Amino acid sequence: CVLCSLAQAEDPSCFWIAVREPVPGVVGETVYANLNAEMEQFYTSYKGTDEVKEEEIKKGQVYVVFSEELKCWCRALVQSVWCQADGYQFSCFLVDYAKYCYVPSKSIRVLPGAFAKIPHRAKKCRLHCTKPLTLHIDYCENTATEVKATIQTVEDKVLEVFLFVTIKDEKVRYFYIANTISELACNKFSGPTFTQSYCWPAAAGGCDVVAISHQGNDPLLYIPPVLTLLQENHYQALPNMSGPLALVLCPGWKKAQLVFDLLKTYRKGCRHLHPVLITLGQNKEAASQMEIRGCEVVVTTPYNLLRLLEHNTGFLCRLCHLVLDEIEVLFSDTSEQVFTILDFYKKATARPRGNLPHQIIAVGTQWNKHITPLIKEFMNDPHIVITLIEEAAIFGNVQQVVQPCISSSRTAELLKILDFTQRNLQKVLVFTDSVTEVEMIHKDSAVDQEDMKAKSVILLTENSSCHAPEIFYYLKHAEAEIPEELYDLTARVQESEEDEKFSRPLCASLKTFGICRNRTECPDRHQINLSVDMAQNIAAEMIETPERVTILPLFIVHATKYFGRIVRKQKDQYAAVAKDMNDYFRVPGHRISVNAVEKSVFYGLREGAVCHRVQVVETPAKDEENACKVTIKYIDEGRTSRVNSDQLLHLPVKFQSLPPQAVEIIVCRVKPIDNEVEWNPKVTEHINHKIKGKVHHAKVVQTLGRTVWVDPMVGVTHLPTMRMWVNEYNIRSEILSTGLGTDNPEHVGAILKLCTQMPVVDHGQNAESDSSHSVWQSGELNELSFSCHPPIKWFQDDVSVTLKVQILRATESRCEFCREKVTFSAYSEGKRYVADLELYQSVIAEKSTCVVKDTEAVILLVKEKKGTWCKLLKNKNVHVSLDFECWQESEDETPFTVGKDCMNLCL
Ligand SMILES: [Zn+2]
Repeated sequence: CVLCSLAQAEDPSCFWIAVREPVPGVVGETVYANLNAEMEQFYTSYKGTDEVKEEEIKKGQVYVVFSEELKCWCRALVQSVWCQADGYQFSCFLVDYAKYCYVPSKSIRVLPGAFAKIPHRAKKCRLHCTKPLTLHIDYCENTATEVKATIQTVEDKVLEVFLFVTIKDEKVRYFYIANTISELACNKFSGPTFTQSYCWPAAAGGCDVVAISHQGNDPLLYIPPVLTLLQENHYQALPNMSGPLALVLCPGWKKAQLVFDLLKTYRKGCRHLHPVLITLGQNKEAASQMEIRGCEVVVTTPYNLLRLLEHNTGFLCRLCHLVLDEIEVLFSDTSEQVFTILDFYKKATARPRGNLPHQIIAVGTQWNKHITPLIKEFMNDPHIVITLIEEAAIFGNVQQVVQPCISSSRTAELLKILDFTQRNLQKVLVFTDSVTEVEMIHKDSAVDQEDMKAKSVILLTENSSCHAPEIFYYLKHAEAEIPEELYDLTARVQESEEDEKFSRPLCASLKTFGICRNRTECPDRHQINLSVDMAQNIAAEMIETPERVTILPLFIVHATKYFGRIVRKQKDQYAAVAKDMNDYFRVPGHRISVNAVEKSVFYGLREGAVCHRVQVVETPAKDEENACKVTIKYIDEGRTSRVNSDQLLHLPVKFQSLPPQAVEIIVCRVKPIDNEVEWNPKVTEHINHKIKGKVHHAKVVQTLGRTVWVDPMVGVTHLPTMRMWVNEYNIRSEILSTGLGTDNPEHVGAILKLCTQMPVVDHGQNAESDSSHSVWQSGELNELSFSCHPPIKWFQDDVSVTLKVQILRATESRCEFCREKVTFSAYSEGKRYVADLELYQSVIAEKSTCVVKDTEAVILLVKEKKGTWCKLLKNKNVHVSLDFECWQESEDETPFTVGKDCMNLCL
């Protein structure tokens, strides 16, 4: 630590200090006192001697000069020579005082060797990790003001320091970002970025700041200065209530989480700073129970804050620093919410609060039109830092003109636009490809001072059409006029860009939520590619009854997307393979390790008593550090992992014939609240905990390759003694109940639209796929829920089957008969009921009837062949049971030959 005084700014980032207090490695003050005394004596007693001839004085040399200001002889570096009427003047830097002065040649003497040995007292400094625009120190030696610096590093003999200004021993900021910086230094911080060096001083000075830059989404643009400000004491004047001093508003929970994590990292060394991340669901209780006492920095999103403000109107009463992170996203998605919050903040700061800061910092990567009212109505003389020229052009209201033309006529076109024929004075800056073009365009222009508005002209030729979308979006962003040609060109370029994505994976957001927010930026595909998506239509093969599949989710990606297996009802082939595989590998001799692991080959992997089929996804490069680690995919579960290659076992061919079982399962019709693009980890954790490895029943809405969309998906428990499945929970309802999910009514429609846009496949060859199409095209099935299957009782005689559908006061009932199927649907007490029954044997559809009564609907099916059916349905259905009452009644009249075993099958 160096204590110093005497600072003289040379340029904002570089200045001199003279070291006053003893510091190891630096010569002490007494040495300079002695030097001064000796020089004084020497030059006073030998006046007139050793005068240097004017022409011999060289720039960059150190001499001894007499300073009129200091009234003493000083060592001085000659910097430049000025010729004046009365002779030459030399500009000197006094190397022991860090001062500049002018002296005539008669005041300059040669520096004797004895005086040259002592190091210069003035040390050159620059501010460590900051590049200020101005450096102004109100420094008066006779007051108690003192400048202190702590040396951080020394580079090229320049000390890098932190500066402090103290008045009467009380530390005031000049500025210092010391603690945070030291934390940054621990994280290999290499110095502030260009934008940071402009933003930090202004933000740390408590000023309002607007920063638009490529790095505009980096929270380190504001965290160090805000933390620095928060370390000061003047907040004690605030009302003794709960509420934060600083609030960071982020567009989504993910960014908020990032900012929160950074705050936790950099708060170390700051006085008891307590950052809090607020993500509230739509559940009212959560907002009212939110504990905010003692938190000084809050990170949240506009929607979350507004929900909190509903319950806690005084929440912003202590707020002094409001940060708007990713301002362009905040303003394009939630401008109304942000302005509501700004109004709250304005009201809170309007109350008398002494000299407390009320600062707004807005950072982002793009200018937004709402920033203008933000500056005018809510900011006070803000520092505006824009490091992107195209954004600065929008801020500066530069008129944007795009002129489509053919390449050969662009010079003529340009001259026409510039309109030199009128007497306009225009400063024109033309960017061209070659020097010849510059000469062609260069032209004298006449003078007229009027139209001073800056104008940017872009000539768009057939050769630059690939830039059309960029220019198009820029013009839109700048709210400039867009020529008709540009619309067409952009559409065409985008179309071809989308075509170029044909080998990319299908966009995950489109799959999970039915929408991709930013198709142009998104690298993935948004159309069906038959050869990729349908290449292995595994899911469709596994699904026997789309109305109800049994799903085992094994790997939860997020709240509505999982990987897992579809468990076949009749003969679960995977279960058989898994059992055989376990038995096989139980024999030690069968466990043959693989010497050279190959990519995409299937292997066996034993984990405890369980064996998995795995596929190598990635092998390490030979020179890589962990050369034995390979990335594998569990092909029957969907998760990936890294294992040692010697763990992989040779997998006999008989275990490889069954295709990989893992399918991607997507739960439809639910999305995150607040237009968030990703699920909050709270929801995902909850769902993961609830569903992983448990049996679910689901209705398939659509399949595509290995992806299955389901709605609904219900957790079930099997009660073997009762031969029943009991529904425990519906995943969608479970997500909605967290308050962090909301209805997504467009999802199913978007998926069906996506999948029907593909070239038509030959439905004729596969009757099953045809029927599954008709299932999802009916549209009503999205409303289906398993809980709304009506209970049905049945009995038979030789020629007919009677179904009694137990449903009260059914309305809008419909019953459709096919040869092997009957479908009943109706509404009752606000709920929709559907029974979709595949019959064990054939009936005559035309003769079958349905009669709706007050408490039930009675369906009479006429058998195609006389005789007894040993069961009613092809597949078990827990809602259908035999009507014992009717069976007993009918026993006397007609011989009913159903045996006890058969009866059990019916259940
Ligand atoms: Zn996308």
